[in-house]
Amino acid sequence: MRDSDDQKRLSHESRFTHHASSLFMATVEQAIEKHIIPLEPYYLPVGKEVGLFEAAYRGKLPVMLKGPTGCGKTRFIEYMAWRLNRPLVTVACHEDLSATDLVGRFLLEGDETVWHDGPLTIAVKHGAICYLDEVVEARKDTIVLIHPLTDDRRILPVEKRGTILQAPDEFMLVVSYNPGYQSVLKDLKQSTRQRFIGLEFDYPPAPLEADILMHEGKIDEQTARDLVLIGEKVRNLKGHGLEEGVSTRLLVYAAQLVSSGIHPHLACEVAISSPITDDSELQRSIREIVTTVI
Ligand code: ADP
Repeated sequence: MRDSDDQKRLSHESRFTHHASSLFMATVEQAIEKHIIPLEPYYLPVGKEVGLFEAAYRGKLPVMLKGPTGCGKTRFIEYMAWRLNRPLVTVACHEDLSATDLVGRFLLEGDETVWHDGPLTIAVKHGAICYLDEVVEARKDTIVLIHPLTDDRRILPVEKRGTILQAPDEFMLVVSYNPGYQSVLKDLKQSTRQRFIGLEFDYPPAPLEADILMHEGKIDEQTARDLVLIGEKVRNLKGHGLEEGVSTRLLVYAAQLVSSGIHPHLACEVAISSPITDDSELQRSIREIVTTVI
């Protein structure tokens, strides 16, 4: 099904490419303004990640953010983009994401063939930070596309237009990757991995995670500490049937529900035990943890 869809899409695109030279071509310059982060995002540094990222930016080194879902990778990159005063172009990778989706395509508009830059091209042109979230999900041709951008050449070939873009010094490629999810079939090849420096992320240490919950969830210190303790105990269930521990993101959700008046037990039920497992035994264990702590 997907193959035939792809074929249709490819023949569609090559038809456009073929006609492009004979038709009037217009280029749509996409606004970069929407990628600028105007206000300082709230980010609590956990280790040396801020200094390391700045050094990577200065050295034009691509960066890989590794860690479980919901532990602060996206917030960190938003903060760094703001701090370095660069626009941030984020792409959520998925298995249908093609090289064309990233680079751009010709589209027929009326009787004109108009080129639309893809997000990667926009980022290269404007010297932005391009963040490929969950890069391992992307198709192989997409991953190969980023190779010439991640070595000394720092170029992006735009095949459909027959051009090559040279990335300005400010351009930076950042990918995220959750090692916990990977299977043999879905793993980044060494030839890709060894193009990035790796910054390891994990759930913040308890006192910092409590500060985050107080800030993001607008809850008092004691409730924040209780939720963090619940988080720690639930994370210990990992490996005992639980695939992945509860994320900081879910603890923030629980905090937000509590601050809007939901009873903490119910908040933990809907924000912690229900999202992370379908197993009723595990849900019962989590409920016990919650009622022991709160
Ligand atoms: P990821 O990209 O790793 O999946 P996010 O960056 O979206 O996760 O983090 C989820 C939420 O957790 C954020 O929206 C934020 O509220 C909170 N968070 C996690 N770590 C931090 C941190 N160090 N500083 C501030 N907020 C954080």
